[in-house]
Amino acid sequence: MRRKLAAGNWKMNGTAASLAELEALKALMPENAPDVLICPPAPLLFRANEAARATGIQIGAQDCHAQNSGAFTGDISAAMIADTGASHVIVGHSERREAYEEHDSDVRKKAKAAWAAGLTAVICIGESADNHSANNTLDIIAGQLAGSLPDGMTATNTVIAYEPIWAIGTGKVPTLEQIVEVHDFIRGKIISRFGAEIGDMIPLLYGGSVKPDNAAMIFKAENVDGALVGGASLKAADFAPIISALA
Ligand code: PGA
Repeated sequence: MRRKLAAGNWKMNGTAASLAELEALKALMPENAPDVLICPPAPLLFRANEAARATGIQIGAQDCHAQNSGAFTGDISAAMIADTGASHVIVGHSERREAYEEHDSDVRKKAKAAWAAGLTAVICIGESADNHSANNTLDIIAGQLAGSLPDGMTATNTVIAYEPIWAIGTGKVPTLEQIVEVHDFIRGKIISRFGAEIGDMIPLLYGGSVKPDNAAMIFKAENVDGALVGGASLKAADFAPIISALA
């Protein structure tokens, strides 16, 4: 059985006061809750791990540098993230691919750095609106999988998040049919490259405007093992129903 994961990406939102949401979330979560991960901004990682200790909620970062240390002003390494007690790091989010021109090769290096530090890499892929309209989605996804996933993926060191860029923060969501098509395609690709033992066990998340009122529809897809949630992960009252829909 694949593990299910509800992951929240707070992006550049939140201060120490926001960590009260972790306890609030725990109180609203069903007993049979799937794995829950919150990725707050980097300055909150230490405190988030403390605040989450009694809740079972896991903590992750939103990005890491590909190098372990050195003259990279403003950056943080995977080892530093692990040192906070965090267990995961998101790499290759489309906002970083776009704003910082991160390419598949950068994402691959960051994923390897995450593994080396003992972190699970949440590797993000997804097509642009233009590629979606031009029916190029599967080609783009195939290219991103080939370029962003390092050799050495295991059943536990990676989570893949499919996030169509046109669905992020827009309120637009693909149809269930489209979600099924892409997630089945990703599953097939990773099984053919890494073998069934690994490819079958990697959790595949859907991300992009997941909300309490569409989560149940999205989770109907057999190869959707959870969600990467932005806006609706900021408040426990919004994220808890999404977690319940996955349970
Ligand atoms: P959203 O963001 O849920 O606010 O659309 C998703 C993401 O970027 O991970």
